Amino acid sequence: MRTDEQITSRPTDPEAPNVIPGRYRQVAVASVPTLDPAWLTEHFTDREVYFRTRFVVARHEGRVALVEVDRKPSDDLFTLTISARVLAGADDCAVVVDETVDTAVPSQLAAAAERFPGVRCVVVEGSYSHVSFILNPAPLRIRLVDVVPPGRAKLLDQVQRVLATAEDLPPVVVVPDLVDSRQLLAAAHDVPPRDLLIPCRGSGMDFPGSAVSFLDERPPERDWTLLGCERSNQIHQWFYGSTPERVDICPRQWLKPDGRSTLTRCCLLQEGVESERTGTVVPWGASLAEVRAALEIIVERAEVAWTHI
Ligand SMILES: [Zn+2]
Repeated sequence: MRTDEQITSRPTDPEAPNVIPGRYRQVAVASVPTLDPAWLTEHFTDREVYFRTRFVVARHEGRVALVEVDRKPSDDLFTLTISARVLAGADDCAVVVDETVDTAVPSQLAAAAERFPGVRCVVVEGSYSHVSFILNPAPLRIRLVDVVPPGRAKLLDQVQRVLATAEDLPPVVVVPDLVDSRQLLAAAHDVPPRDLLIPCRGSGMDFPGSAVSFLDERPPERDWTLLGCERSNQIHQWFYGSTPERVDICPRQWLKPDGRSTLTRCCLLQEGVESERTGTVVPWGASLAEVRAALEIIVERAEVAWTHI
């Protein structure tokens, strides 16, 4: 029954960024008559606890405090605590009750903590009534650059789906930086071009004042403006042997010199992930595996400090 964790666990640094329990079983919840720190310290010292318990969310009248306990090594299911310390007092804690939050996923805890900016400890009662917390939330903020429409922001959607299950990645918060392709066109043309060519049909692609053609339908050539990426330009070359006037929509153009924590997609990347100083790039039609690989690269380069206990 004895685990290494019991024998080797050291007190948590209350100032360490992104402290997150690795297992909800480490977190116990107790109703107490007061959240006074001295009382909590004494009460949770020399007290019987489940052998996995390392943290106690002490509750009193809707408020909480976070206590850490040290246990006597034991082979039994329950053991005695040797000492206790308050990691975050009642004034430093906020509570989120949201059954859509999977408390095993650091990025989901970080997203919950975003609801209380500046709060040191956010305790989350999430799916299956599991209780966990994030202490000193300092998630990595990834700038996600993409262009819409056509369609919804697909890459943003994919990143959020990957992060929603990333139990082993440090906490990440995505900061969308979305550019509207219709505004790009408006910025380039005072008057809408009479004929407009876009790569394919998609939702939200209505352009008042322009006759719209779709490149993937290989329509008869007109004197149009292409609203598309370099790949569309190449396809146009192949179809018609000419280079149209073009408004570039490739999100790569919005990368900045230091884009260590930036993610975007590019029409010219066929597969895999490219990572440069300006950002990390996945293919236009990236798979979830490629998105996951890109996130891993960004997280590793950023050297996110976190304690996953
Ligand atoms: Zn591109």
